[in-house]
Amino acid sequence: MIYPTTLPKIMAEYYLGDPCYVIPDNEWDDFCQIMNYEGNDFDFKGETCRVIGTGGDGDFGGLSVDAGIIGVIPVSLCDPQKLKNIVPSDARLINNFATLENDGYGDIILVDGEAINGVQCECSHCRGRETWHSEDNMVDCDSCGAMVSPDCVEYGDEGEYCSDWCKEEREPEED
Ligand SMILES: [Zn+2]
Ligand SMILES: [Zn+2]
Repeated sequence: MIYPTTLPKIMAEYYLGDPCYVIPDNEWDDFCQIMNYEGNDFDFKGETCRVIGTGGDGDFGGLSVDAGIIGVIPVSLCDPQKLKNIVPSDARLINNFATLENDGYGDIILVDGEAINGVQCECSHCRGRETWHSEDNMVDCDSCGAMVSPDCVEYGDEGEYCSDWCKEEREPEED
């Protein structure tokens, strides 16, 4: 096939969000049959896509999820009107074919290795480690304000702390 050379070169762009908002209605059933939920590449209508299961619906770091999945979909597969309706309020456009992974209990979504809906524990034990937690579960240290995961919280009589040290600071042990 010969392509006209005068066509403007369109930048490779991908839709990042729940595919159910942008895949044309009459193709949705086919899409669901073909896709996998594991973030592995699959072909749909000659284009490569990725989809990851979110384990639920709702807001995932600014991406609205209604079909329990987040996908990286070439914009050429998207219904232009649907795309307009959903971007940028509930989905995004990105320039690269990003990887999709689950983390935590499966409800944290990593796009290119970065959690879009997760935060990292700020306790001294976890600092620098790539473990992600759901923001909803995090606890603020009552002494220094650090955000710590439920697994790392030190419980005191009067509050919750990021470390023994912070607990000491607020609740000195009396001899
Ligand atoms: Zn920690
Ligand atoms: Zn602290």
